[in-house]
Order: sequence, then C-alpha cells, then structure tokens
Amino acid sequence: MNTVKTLLNKPTTPVRTLAELNARAVHNTKTRTLTHSQGRIVVLGSGWAGFKFMKDLSRKDYEVTVVSPRNYFVFTPLLASTSVGTLEFRCATEPVRGYSHNIDYHQAWCDKIDIENQVVHCTSNLDDNKGSPFTLDYDKLIISVGSYSNTFGIPGVKEHGLFLKDIQDARKIRARFEYAAQPGLSDKEKSEKLHFAVVGGGPTGVEFSSELHDFISEDLSRLYPQLMAHTRMTLYDVAPQILGTFDQNLSAYATRKFARRGIQIKTGRQVLEVMKDRLIVKDDGEVPFGMLVWSTGLMQNPLVESCQNALKDAHSHRLMTDSYLRVLAKDGQGVLPNIYAMGDCATIKDHDLPATAQVAQQKAQYLGDVFNKAAKNGLDTEVPEFSFHNRGSMAYIGSWEAVVDMTPVHKKASEGGHLAWFFWRSAYLSMSVSFRNKMLIPMFWFLTWMSGRDITKF
Ligand SMILES: Cc1cc2nc3c(=O)[nH]c(=O)nc-3n(C[C@H](O)[C@H](O)[C@H](O)COP(=O)(O)OP(=O)(O)OC[C@H]3O[C@@H](n4cnc5c(N)ncnc54)[C@H](O)[C@@H]3O)c2cc1C
Repeated sequence: MNTVKTLLNKPTTPVRTLAELNARAVHNTKTRTLTHSQGRIVVLGSGWAGFKFMKDLSRKDYEVTVVSPRNYFVFTPLLASTSVGTLEFRCATEPVRGYSHNIDYHQAWCDKIDIENQVVHCTSNLDDNKGSPFTLDYDKLIISVGSYSNTFGIPGVKEHGLFLKDIQDARKIRARFEYAAQPGLSDKEKSEKLHFAVVGGGPTGVEFSSELHDFISEDLSRLYPQLMAHTRMTLYDVAPQILGTFDQNLSAYATRKFARRGIQIKTGRQVLEVMKDRLIVKDDGEVPFGMLVWSTGLMQNPLVESCQNALKDAHSHRLMTDSYLRVLAKDGQGVLPNIYAMGDCATIKDHDLPATAQVAQQKAQYLGDVFNKAAKNGLDTEVPEFSFHNRGSMAYIGSWEAVVDMTPVHKKASEGGHLAWFFWRSAYLSMSVSFRNKMLIPMFWFLTWMSGRDITKF
C-alpha cells in the first residue's frame, strides 16, 4: 500500500518543501534567466529511464536539458533481433530530438557532478569536438546513466568479447558473421571460426542465442550449406540453470528446446580467461571460438563511481535513493539536494528491484508525474512513494517460440511455445515508441519471414 505525504510535510530531510528547493535552485542559478516557472531540469542519459522521463515531462513548466553521449534511445529488447538482421537497426532506436522542439540536447558525457554549486561537468562526444569540456547548471538533476556490462575482472573479456549494450555492439556482431563464414579455411579452422559462444544464460543471452540459431538455421544454411557441418553454438553460465529468474518449468522448457536444436548449454561453468580466439573454461580447458558474446551482469557507470557524497548499495554499488527516488547522502544526513536517480544506476534503500527496462520505465513515469503535479499544484502536491508493479518477464527462445512468465500477475499465467511467442511479439510491438517503428517493425518481420534476413548491409 502506498503512503501519501505532502512535499511540505516530508520529515528528516534537509530539503523539506518545494519552496525551499526552488529558492535554493534560483540562488545557484547565476548564468541564465529562468524562462520556465519550475527552472531547469538536467537529465543525464537517454535510455529507458531518461528518455521516458524527458518525454513525459511538461516542457511548458520545465526547461529540459538532456546530456547523453548518444542522440537516440535504444529499445534494448529488440537489440538481439537487429544484431542478426531480423530487424533493421532503426527499428530499435528513437531520436532524442524527435520528441520535442522544446528540449535542449547535448551529445556529451557527464563526468562529474558538483553538488554544492549545482553544476554538471561534461565533455562533448561529437566527432569534430570530442573531449571539449563544458558545464551546465541545474535546478534539478536526474541521473539515469544506466550501467556497463560486468566482466568480473576476467582478463581479455573487454578486448575480445562483444557486448549487446548498444546499436554499435549489434553492428559489430553482424560484421563478425561474414568474417566467420569466409572460405579457404581448413576444416579445423572452419570449426573454430564457426563456434559461436555466448556467456550468460539470463534473458539477454538466451534471446541472443535464439536469434543467432534462427539466423544460422534459416539463412546461413541456405547461403553457406557447405559450412553447416562445422557450425555450433554453446551457451555458458556459472549458475546451475539458464533463465534462473523465470518459473522453473519455463526454464526447463527452454533448456529442452535448446538441446533439441543443438545449442549446447554448459551451466555451472566458470570462464577464467578470454583470448583473441579462445576462452579458458574451468573444467573444460581451452575452447576455440569465432565469436564470443558476453552478457553477464552489470557493473557501475564511472559517473556513479565518481559520486563520492552519495550513498551506494554495498553489493551492487548502485546509487541508493529513498522511495521518492531522491539520492541519499553518504553520511546518513538525508538526501543530496535536488538530485534524483533511476534506472539501472540506482536502487531504492531496503527495496531492491531488478535492473530491467520495466523498473526503469516505471520509475521514470512516477517521477515525471510527481514533477508535473508539483508544477500544477504547487507546494501542497501530494507525493506517493514509488511502488513497482511487476508485470512479469518474457524471452524469445527461437523457432517462433517464447517463454512468458506472468506469475507475479496471476499464479497460473506462465506459458512456453508459439502462443507465448505471439504474446512476446505483440507486447514489444505495442511497447515500441513511435508510430514510425510501430509500422517498420512488423514490416521487417514480414520481410524476414518472406525473403530471409538481409545480410547485404552487414
Ligand atoms: C540486449 C538487452 C536486452 C534487454 N532486454 C530487456 C527486456 O526484454 N526487458 C527488460 O525489462 N529489460 C531488458 N534489458 C535491460 C534494460 O535494457 C535495462 O534495464 C535498461 O536499459 C535500463 O535503463 P536505463 O535508462 O537505466 O539505462 P540505459 O537504457 O542503459 O541508458 C543509459 C543512458 O545513459 C547514457 N550515459 C551513460 N553514461 C553517461 C554519462 N556519463 N553521461 C551522460 N549520459 C550517459 C547512455 O548513453 C544511455 O543513453 C535488456 C538489456 C539489454 C542490453
């Protein structure tokens, strides 16, 4: 049950009222004139959290500035499909600037936050201006910079593994196929180059393996029939099973399907080192590969690491917030003034939630609502605590099948197979953001079904 409090009545925090927040903000704002009644909000990041927040916020009341090294939002659940050509890259992206004329956007990294003076220090990420520093002052700051892929300090992963985190990663993966399939190699070399290894048996690793398997069995088998005997795929995970966060029956279902399709699942395996074309696996020794996709866990964004005054979760090192998403101060003295955090880079104290798009999006929607109401209703705005509504999870498992686990919504709602696949596709299509992508995605699905994946643009 949500508790409802007023901004005026918030106890035990250094910033108690909206009036105080604004007074402080105006005091610190020396370099610009406030053209919007609620001042300037700087949003760091254009991912699931930052993009949703920016889209929902009333630009009539707030001056919105977005800082992000990429000028687009990536619809990550479709990245695996784009990496093998089931969908075109543009189906999984939305331009930051496409959503409003009233948003100020800077293609840059934020490197440091000066909490005292309410200023962020940034460096440009534009090709012809890379590294140029600039500063921006804020009245409110939203940290939604996501996380990095965790390599757990395993040597060679960063250098030789491929990560599915951004469109650029998906592009690299597509380019590797042509390389792996080049002719003129001995049988042994072919088998080594055509060994596709995926490390990480969570939903992302499973979906990528499934898309890759579809690509190999539906397209490469047609284009390179002579290479099929040399092609194999292995999915490694240190855990005892894949899709460990799903209902047990669904995890077992996916495992059976993978085995039937010839995807080797090696659970309980620890990768010790990755070299240019081989990995060392505890108990298995040296395993040659042509392509290695790394999809295990998350590691903190360097910006979060640099926030010395913020309280962080001891285990995940994410920024710790209260249930109003305000960043907590390290010394236990309440919150950092005017700083909020959401998405993969943050967690709520005593209420840890998974690092998923679903959580990021719900937090962004919550905070957008709070800010919009505050602009409309003023100081007496009632602010409920954030509460998460788990809508379940789903994963594509290849060959037009998926697993959908909606048991958090209804205890019998779990399904594996073609019906689940239909649900999976419908859900992602309805979640895609723009009208343009709502048209493009089914069009590319249809084209792929009709005439195979387009590998000319690798
Ligand atoms: C391949 C893949 C598939 C996934 N599938 C699902 C799924 O099906 N369902 C689900 O719920 N979740 C899924 N996830 C997880 C989901 O994508 C993340 O939980 C979600 O992206 C988190 O949103 P975010 O806004 O916190 O971070 P992100 O979406 O990662 O966005 C972070 C943003 O911050 C920017 N940034 C980084 N550093 C800085 C900086 N210093 N200054 C300014 N900007 C910065 C980045 O460029 C980016 O724009 C998937 C993830 C991946 C990688």
